[in-house]
Amino acid sequence: MTQSIQTHLLQAKKLIELNTSTYHAITHPAKQVIVSLPIMMDNGLVKVFKGYRVVHSDILGPSKGGTRYDESVNLEIVNALATWMSLKCAIVDLPYGGAKGGIQCNPKRLSQAELERLTRAYTRSMLSTIGPKKDIPAPDMGTSAREMAWIADEYSRCLGKKQPGVVTGKPLSLGGALGRVEATGRGVMLVTVEAAEQLNIPLAQSSVIVHGFGNVGMHAAQLLEKKGCKIIGISDRSGGYFNQNGIDITQAIDYKITNQTLEDMPHVQPVDIAKLLGTKTDIFIPAGQENIINSQNAHHINAKLVVEGANGASDLEGDAIMQKKGTIVIPDILANAGGVLVSYCEWVQNNTGQIWTSEQVNAHMKSKLRKAFEIVYSTSQNYQVSIRQGAYIVGLERLAEAYSHQGTF
Ligand code: NAD
Repeated sequence: MTQSIQTHLLQAKKLIELNTSTYHAITHPAKQVIVSLPIMMDNGLVKVFKGYRVVHSDILGPSKGGTRYDESVNLEIVNALATWMSLKCAIVDLPYGGAKGGIQCNPKRLSQAELERLTRAYTRSMLSTIGPKKDIPAPDMGTSAREMAWIADEYSRCLGKKQPGVVTGKPLSLGGALGRVEATGRGVMLVTVEAAEQLNIPLAQSSVIVHGFGNVGMHAAQLLEKKGCKIIGISDRSGGYFNQNGIDITQAIDYKITNQTLEDMPHVQPVDIAKLLGTKTDIFIPAGQENIINSQNAHHINAKLVVEGANGASDLEGDAIMQKKGTIVIPDILANAGGVLVSYCEWVQNNTGQIWTSEQVNAHMKSKLRKAFEIVYSTSQNYQVSIRQGAYIVGLERLAEAYSHQGTF
């Protein structure tokens, strides 16, 4: 991941002829926090977890980024995810810097009480880092509105005053925004619509495969199904599932929510993930773990358009292979920006006491994503580079411009 970001950033630096001093100043993480969290487990034993928060940049505003609970969480991954947040916020023109955090754990192996103690301990250890005008966490893989509610509550208790704006992605009853749960998936759908229009791919009846049927993947699939697409394949950690005639996504979501897995779902054929990824489709949406498109399988991806719902969906080699093959890739830092766009709506509401309708929230996201798509696409055309490289150029240029006005001492 780090190698991929550095390569793309360096290419962008060269193309925009950015001076090396500014480049270093804006690409080094501003703050990295690592904490040990001793937690009393339900069996009475104490287990120590590792927590991370990286503020990559606060040049454009308070830093913003999700909180991941997964066994793979480490400093390198959190750094990479925080860097992407800086670029993402710059690309969609939000007044935010970039950050990311997380805890190295398997949330599925923890009880609700253990998870709550862990989340509250993490919040206390981050009191001097997070804050509504400093650094604002949100959900990511392994976390949801429930964890955000715990963070907001613990932070408010520690400060002795209500501070709902310290996190976004909260439940509606605690100051969440309408549409936040499906926001990232909606953004993936909107960007797919823009890209399909630009590339003359008729969306109605287009086939779609979604890898990673979690928060992002399931909502992207459902919204694309509403646009007339036929979702022929989905997957989760239990494997891949295929139906050439189209999977009923509402049924699949109900099944996944009820059973916490897609395993044994009716009306689909189980297939292994490698086979699913090589299946012919118009659109492929990776929305699970990182580096799913890599040197081993990029040759086999058989899609006209790839829209990266997951952060770091393609590694450097995978990306290069797809570019060579002529596969159009809409990069993560543009494709999955819907979440942070709706988080911004939530934060504005929390800080001003306003309540926005879902129409207002969705209109804000649509207009920001459309503008971002247009500028990224035209930049890629102007420089004769991939859409990913165009996105890195737009992000880096915006950060460099703000940095030049801010000055250094
Ligand atoms: P999630 O935990 O809700 O879902 C992840 C899905 O991927 C699950 O279905 C899981 O089974 C599958 N998956 C994970 N690891 C896998 C593996 N090794 N093999 C097969 N399947 C695997 O997570 P999410 O919130 O939907 O996030 C997915 C991606 O989108 C992440 O890269 C995340 O950083 C990115 N993202 C999420 C948001 C958000 O608002 N949730 C915003 C921006 C980006």
